[in-house]
Amino acid sequence: MNLIVMGGPACGKGVQTKHICEKYDLLHISTGDLLREVINSNTTNSQKIKEIITTGNLVSDDLIYELVLQKLSQNTKKGYVLDGFPRTSNQALMLDVNQNIDAVILLETDYETTLKRVLGRRVCVHCKASLNVDELKGKRCPYCSGAVSTRLDDNETTFKKRYEIYKMQSAPLIKYYEDKGILYRVLNNSSIDETSKKIDEILSKLKV
Ligand code: AMP
Repeated sequence: MNLIVMGGPACGKGVQTKHICEKYDLLHISTGDLLREVINSNTTNSQKIKEIITTGNLVSDDLIYELVLQKLSQNTKKGYVLDGFPRTSNQALMLDVNQNIDAVILLETDYETTLKRVLGRRVCVHCKASLNVDELKGKRCPYCSGAVSTRLDDNETTFKKRYEIYKMQSAPLIKYYEDKGILYRVLNNSSIDETSKKIDEILSKLKV
């Protein structure tokens, strides 16, 4: 089973993709995480990518597709979930060349809820768990005790920019996948568990 989880910035893609991958034994491909790995590796591209992410812009289609292909070529699982890719029509076309996607889960949230989530989001440096500042009793990750930090792009100015870019460049993909008959809308306005249940219902009915 090959899936895409899409939605606006901080709509909960990472958390729900993690759940799906654990339940169905699929490979989690988060393009945001792949880019953050490149930034941490201090290679020639690192500084340029850091600037792009910090300002809320998108990295080039060619670079991101190369990272996705690399990850796909190492896949030993029965399928994968793409989290954060494709984000432009061109990326969707690139993906279609040799990949078959069974379903696209669109997580729908509103601007105010996601902004609040962004401002309270912390990420575990070690296990990459996405955490909310309110659930952090100490300064360490509750799952692995790793240190936690704030993402470069989790501030109001960058969020606004990311939201605009989502509406202009990524939202058109909704129609693209709707026309293919593989788009499933999930309202993500309550708890993580309730959203996971809604996704499970959809996936359990998929004939793949
Ligand atoms: P995310 O962790 O998915 O929220 O992504 C963080 C940032 O990484 C985005 O705001 C973009 O700057 C960059 N990024 C992630 N995925 C892509 C993509 N598919 N295309 C271009 N840029 C991306």
